Amino acid sequence: MTEQEEEALHIIQTHRQGILQSELWKELNIDSRKCSRIVKRLLDAGLIERIEYRSDGIRTYLLRAKTRAIDPSLILAGGEILPCIGCERECVPEECSLLLDWMYQLVLEEYQG
Ligand code: SF4
Repeated sequence: MTEQEEEALHIIQTHRQGILQSELWKELNIDSRKCSRIVKRLLDAGLIERIEYRSDGIRTYLLRAKTRAIDPSLILAGGEILPCIGCERECVPEECSLLLDWMYQLVLEEYQG
């Protein structure tokens, strides 16, 4: 992936609701044709999705990053799912007993192999 493709992907990923293609090329400071080529490569790689969108009667596209499935083994420790999933507490990770307990399970699992 080129530096510009990585930058484009990063911009798309940081706009969780998506970004218009017409805004992307302005942010990247490139022309629309070059932007189209970058978008096509990201689409072909399955990293983003493109939805047709009309803005002031002009057709453009809304670009959104595709969410990737998470490997469940990465969020499980001792049969317990990572407590941060769906957590609505006020978050101070260094002081969170839920997270500490979960990490303790993780270490135990590693230790027990
Ligand atoms: S660290 Fe604790 S408070 Fe923060 S999101 Fe995770 S479980 Fe919730």
